[in-house]
Amino acid sequence: MTTRAYNFSPGPAALPEPVLERAKAEFMDYRGQGLSVMEMSHRSSAFIDIAARAEADLRALLGVDDDYHVLFLQGGASMQFAMVPINLAGQGATADYVHTGSWGSKAIEEARRVTHVRIAASSADGFTHIPHPSTWRPSPDARYCHITSNETIGGVQFHEFPRTDAPLVADMSSDFVSRPIDVARFGLIYAGAQKNVGPAGLCVVIVRRDLCGRTPPGTPRILDYAVHAEHESMFNTPPTYTWYLAGLVFAWLRQMGGVTAMAATNRRKASKLYAAIDASNFYSSPVARHDRSLMNVPFTLADPALDTAFLAGADDRRLLNLKGHRSVGGMRASLYNAVSEQAVDALIDYMQVFEKEQA
Ligand code: PMP
Repeated sequence: MTTRAYNFSPGPAALPEPVLERAKAEFMDYRGQGLSVMEMSHRSSAFIDIAARAEADLRALLGVDDDYHVLFLQGGASMQFAMVPINLAGQGATADYVHTGSWGSKAIEEARRVTHVRIAASSADGFTHIPHPSTWRPSPDARYCHITSNETIGGVQFHEFPRTDAPLVADMSSDFVSRPIDVARFGLIYAGAQKNVGPAGLCVVIVRRDLCGRTPPGTPRILDYAVHAEHESMFNTPPTYTWYLAGLVFAWLRQMGGVTAMAATNRRKASKLYAAIDASNFYSSPVARHDRSLMNVPFTLADPALDTAFLAGADDRRLLNLKGHRSVGGMRASLYNAVSEQAVDALIDYMQVFEKEQA
């Protein structure tokens, strides 16, 4: 009997149960080695095999070809806010940013310390939509154009990716491997693991080879993509256990039919929840319909004074982590790959019951 709750956390977030079961089975003794994966040397053949399989499965899932390095780094997505401008732009250069929410703000703030940032487009009048690419004003000399494909707090998501002259760089932390993407459209993609990939402590970076190796002399080696690529993400001790779990998640995704199958399920889950919100006068979504995120669904109650009661009732039903981000308030349901359709049904059922109770 499972006692697990329905977890709508924005991250660290729900992981697939088969992955947790597998990790549990292998926890004390990894496949007859007599030790746990977290006790192994990262140089051991068993771990090198784990690492290589994780990369191969990820490449297969997203169709990443040999023009790109796949790196497994530490420092979270926030480290990439700095590494991207350090490696791709630098002092005296210009980088374009499309500003669609709080995570974009953080990326911009960090990049400004390193390079000249130009805002090519912004929805800062509330962050409830994605500015249409026809309104963007790219810089002719931009070294890259940075977007946040899914804003985890605001719940706005790119459903199509623009064509840009400068290499497109995407923070995909909260919608990575949730749908197919055409990697060739991007110069660089990065994603913190703790939503769709695994536990916290790892950031996956997919970077076009020709964009690496351009850092100025004096750049610390640990901040240089070329150095990490040359050392196959083992320039220093990598987060081995998180990498292993990410590998289990990628293998699970392949078994489930890959990102195309995930995208269909994710669309169904989010559509149900948005339909329930739109059908009610009690709940509402602040986000423009076309740009609503399939991963993070923020919603508000007609009377914010009921928020506490709503959350307490949700907790009673083991529907956890529905509180919106402190900067925006209200509620937020995160519906990553590992959140089941059953969990979404249970949430909708509870929302309808709670609404009736207030009538
Ligand atoms: N970008 C996005 C879109 C995020 O959602 C987050 C974390 N929630 C980050 C960046 C920062 O990630 P980290 O805490 O791993 O640095």
